[in-house]
Amino acid sequence: MTQTITVIRGDGIGPEIMDATLHVLDSMNLGLQYEFADAGLVALEKHGELLPQATLDSIRKNRIALKSPLTTPVGEGFSSINVELRKRFDLYANVRPAKSFPNTKSRFADGVDLITVRENTEGAYIGEGQALSEDGETAVLTQKVTRRGSERIVRYAFELARRTGRKKVTVVHKANILKSTSGLFLKTARAVAAEYPDIECNEMIVDNTCMQLVMRPEQFDIIVTTNLFGDIISDLCAGLVGGLGLAPGANIGADAAIFEAVHGTAPDIAGQGKANPCALLLGAAQMLDHLGECEKAERLRAAIVATLEAKDSLTPDLGGTGNTMSFAKAIASRI
Ligand code: ATP
Repeated sequence: MTQTITVIRGDGIGPEIMDATLHVLDSMNLGLQYEFADAGLVALEKHGELLPQATLDSIRKNRIALKSPLTTPVGEGFSSINVELRKRFDLYANVRPAKSFPNTKSRFADGVDLITVRENTEGAYIGEGQALSEDGETAVLTQKVTRRGSERIVRYAFELARRTGRKKVTVVHKANILKSTSGLFLKTARAVAAEYPDIECNEMIVDNTCMQLVMRPEQFDIIVTTNLFGDIISDLCAGLVGGLGLAPGANIGADAAIFEAVHGTAPDIAGQGKANPCALLLGAAQMLDHLGECEKAERLRAAIVATLEAKDSLTPDLGGTGNTMSFAKAIASRI
């Protein structure tokens, strides 16, 4: 493989977990070239803007980026750099795996292995038409769902199922109450599902989904849903399997894809070598899958599991006494 990827080292614990992740990727001799680009607080300090044109150009050219968490300072133009990146590159699919790992403080030590596929560009989450009346008594928001937006995300979920050998897609909605928006999503999902007779499709109302996830998460394989429901459900799933330190995410569009850790910049532990690099490493594994290097992605995941099983050099959040880089080295040694 010869592939150049854009690497954004980020803010807070970002540079530490990125260095650790690149150490592991380097140990795999993947033939990856890194093009470093700035975004967030670092970019504001160096270039006077949060999302420099050079960074956008780099992502556009390479089509693949590995990104650490970013700080978006209040009052600097964007409400969130991550949301801005999704918009700029039309990254319509937010893909978040949640899998049980050994020796983690999780409710489900095994049995959870699911992926949430969240629509990333429309619905209530994007805050379209937000307004507060002059007297501050009434707030409104437009919630727009389109057939095109629904179709492409549901199709992504079914294609992902086929590609990864998964057997079931659960369409999560609230069409019984939100008859127009969630109704259109569900109707569109049914039409797409009919094209995939080899994949089981079931439908579940979002509130029941939350209860089912907490009680019997092993029944889920791939969940596909709209933006706001997906935002909530994917964090719930991260909580089922041990929290944010182990939760990766991908934002995927037709022309670009950005892979990341789901957690933030963790300013409380930044610069102390305490950050767990696993979420970003698992994001890198998703990137390898996306690049068609599925066997290498599996090897990386297996090395993470083996290191957790051996309790070798784990970071303090996992109850260990290791640090970010010693943990990464322990993982690299098992690949
Ligand atoms: P931000 O404002 O960037 O979202 P935050 O601190 O509000 O930052 P997170 O960064 O997600 O939110 O952190 C939430 C908690 O989880 C913090 O206590 C943080 O130290 C911890 N945490 C987050 N990521 C990691 C990690 N990779 N390793 C260890 N602890 C982490």
